[in-house]
Amino acid sequence: MIKESLLVQGMRKKLVENLRQKGITDEKVLEAINAVPRHIFMDLSLERVAYEDRAIGILCEQTISQPSTVAFQTQLLNVKHREKILEIGTGSGYQTAVLYKLSSRVYTIERQKPLYDAAIKVFEKINIHPNCFFGDGYKGLPQFAPFDKILVTCGAPFVPQDLINQLKIGGVMVIPVGDNSQTMYKITKISETETKEESFGDFKFVPMLKDKQK
Ligand code: SAH
Repeated sequence: MIKESLLVQGMRKKLVENLRQKGITDEKVLEAINAVPRHIFMDLSLERVAYEDRAIGILCEQTISQPSTVAFQTQLLNVKHREKILEIGTGSGYQTAVLYKLSSRVYTIERQKPLYDAAIKVFEKINIHPNCFFGDGYKGLPQFAPFDKILVTCGAPFVPQDLINQLKIGGVMVIPVGDNSQTMYKITKISETETKEESFGDFKFVPMLKDKQK
């Protein structure tokens, strides 16, 4: 594990209390947030704001979602130990690390090479081993399907059918859907042909990219 100051640990405890007050009730999710050093996933100069409940800019004009959104999506996903998880949009890797605390069978896809490269370095630094892929999240990872859970961390213009196909029966996908702002959906795969959709309010995410990025 990395060394960190008491100040950072204290700030993270406060963040956890803040999330509790904002309605996050899943103790496992709160424990995971308390265990992941969010400041490592951003520019060093941002350490002091790393534990505020706000989104923070990273490379390629992307953002790490605000902690309450990360916690909310993770709580909706309801990850159980040893479940196989697919994340779309590795970004900084922060959400990946939170998922990894809940189940180490995490697969994550990033469309932009500089972000993919940077996230791999951070994972090495904090000694975690998610399976990372540089590729197109719309396509998922058919070679590793089916997944128990799928989490999309960018705003999807629609629900990609390939991702539904890669869910187990009984599996759950959490995905923000919409162009300018997004509605959070929890989609449960009931059978090969049926899904159940529940919505959980409006959010604002960076868009899920369609064109190939370098
Ligand atoms: N989970 C990230 C959130 C980053 S923002 C974190 O905790 O930091 C969303 C990310 O999705 C960005 O890094 C963006 O490059 C990536 N993304 C956008 N479109 C994508 C696509 N089609 N496939 C995979 N990743 C995509």
